[in-house]
Amino acid sequence: MTERAEIFKAKSAIKSADLEHRHKINFNIGKYNDAVPQGKKQFEDNNLVKERAKNIKWSALEKLDQHLEEFEMHFTARGGKVIWADNSQEALDEILSICKEKKCTSIVKSKSMVTEEIQLNHFLKEHGIQSVETDLGEYIQQLDDEPPYHIVTPAMHKNKEDVAKLFENKLGTPSKLSPRELTLVARENLRDKYVEAEIGITGANFVVSDIGGIAVTENEGNARLSTAWPKTHIVIVGIEKMIPSVTDLALFWPLLATYGTGQKVTVYNSIISGPRQPGETDGPEDMYVILLDNNRTNILANAIQRESLYCIRCGACLNACPVYKNIGGHAYGTTYSGPIGSVITPNLKGLEEYKHLSYASSLCGACTEVCPVKINLHQLLLANRNASVEEGMTTLAERLAWKTWKVASLNRRMMNKGNGKLKSKVVTTLFKEWNKQHTPLSFSKKTFNEMWKDKQNLK
Ligand code: SF4
Repeated sequence: MTERAEIFKAKSAIKSADLEHRHKINFNIGKYNDAVPQGKKQFEDNNLVKERAKNIKWSALEKLDQHLEEFEMHFTARGGKVIWADNSQEALDEILSICKEKKCTSIVKSKSMVTEEIQLNHFLKEHGIQSVETDLGEYIQQLDDEPPYHIVTPAMHKNKEDVAKLFENKLGTPSKLSPRELTLVARENLRDKYVEAEIGITGANFVVSDIGGIAVTENEGNARLSTAWPKTHIVIVGIEKMIPSVTDLALFWPLLATYGTGQKVTVYNSIISGPRQPGETDGPEDMYVILLDNNRTNILANAIQRESLYCIRCGACLNACPVYKNIGGHAYGTTYSGPIGSVITPNLKGLEEYKHLSYASSLCGACTEVCPVKINLHQLLLANRNASVEEGMTTLAERLAWKTWKVASLNRRMMNKGNGKLKSKVVTTLFKEWNKQHTPLSFSKKTFNEMWKDKQNLK
């Protein structure tokens, strides 16, 4: 087992025994579960909506090369600049070079998982550039020096008392402030940052090919301020966020809102298709869109795993997952946690190092059931397991155990030998590792043949 897998197991064991942690997550997921059915009421046929969304993403990904070029053509025609980044380092180098050109020392940033993926804040800090998170949840996490806990609700594991304490410790605010007072403190602190920052950085929920624009969805208005005040706007986005047409947003905006938070539509939805145009009164003078690959094309090339790129990062699969609900977001040790994280991380960062995540699932299928773009998440977890076995990433002990199991299971005479007690003992010894984490396998006293005979005699 790799060191990373050992750490994952150790962290998971600690978190799953932490009842306070579980109470906080269940409380917040409970609120989400209450809200989602309300949001869903806006769809007459929920299944049809999901199917349409999946089809649109399928079509966008099947012609991704063409859509990306179309996006670039329209966006650059309005004065925007497109940068193609193969990997994290290329993206970081490009951002640094823009910062140097603009003599930038201060950045405001709205919530973006891709910036977490490339470790942007850490990199900027190393180069003496202050990058301030402006989304309230991310602001809390940055104050606490912690990565986001959840792809939609970064501070889901903290209750209002935790946040009040954090503000008291880090900002010197009075103790026991209410959520409203805490929000006002954050708002007050952030206002000046927008004005001071030379550059605003955002992600994008969607890249819209036919108009050459990006779409950003948020509830706080902080992304709008981050793009309107600073003279330069940098967008960093994974290439899979493509949708073919602006009209597709009529489906994707309500879908993302409902499955992300239970809203009918998120409070602020912006389409930005370039820097400020002549005659316009606001917006940045320069706008860059960095299109990040970072191994997404490897997933695209994999006919089975490709559909994981349909993900719109709503977080619904995390909220539905019994594993996530017990171990929480940080135990995974990855940018993307929960079922979708366990599917894509081994393919983005290496199967050998991250295959253990695909085993951290009961395969109950709850993730697949809730996914608004119908990604077969639990099947893809199985496919990752299968790939790791095919590529020989199993131990000799594991291979021998399964070989013995197979030979015995296919041989009726062997299966009929020995009583249940003996078989349980043999299997427990064979699957020693399994038994460390699971209830021991227990065979029935009688063999199948014996039970069958008993049944026939009863007739
Ligand atoms: S895989 Fe589906 S449910 Fe999970 S975050 Fe992505 S879109 Fe949402």
